[in-house]
Amino acid sequence: MPSCDLCGKQENLFIANVESVEMTVCSSCSSFGIIIKPIKKIITPKKTEKKKNEAVEYIVEDSSQKIRIIREKSGLNQEDFAKKLSIRTSLLQKIETNNTSLDIPLARKLEKLLHINLIEQKLEESSVEIKNNKSSDTMTVGDVVKL
Ligand SMILES: [Zn+2]
Repeated sequence: MPSCDLCGKQENLFIANVESVEMTVCSSCSSFGIIIKPIKKIITPKKTEKKKNEAVEYIVEDSSQKIRIIREKSGLNQEDFAKKLSIRTSLLQKIETNNTSLDIPLARKLEKLLHINLIEQKLEESSVEIKNNKSSDTMTVGDVVKL
């Protein structure tokens, strides 16, 4: 929390030029210098509210296939194609064989270079999932017998 550099008060703060030094001062100390701007309280949004409808980005399931097809169409081998994308050949080989080798930043880069869609978004439903997990943790007598 910001406070007055001169007296330590935490209310009605301003950024002021006090003898050509930028300082945080309260309204009563601001008379020592020239007020530049008031300090507004920073309102941080509640985490839970923010998360509610947050879209989660994930790599499409057939990203490997998509990239391989484009490369084959271009007539380039993996080495030349990797060069074109300025990535390592070994990375391209991984990407073409395993969907999980792509991360979001790289997928974004490849999307631009290859004009294909590699990232999809879906809304997070974390609150619902957590509830379901809890209920599945509590075992009924029937479950114990099955085990
Ligand atoms: Zn003060």
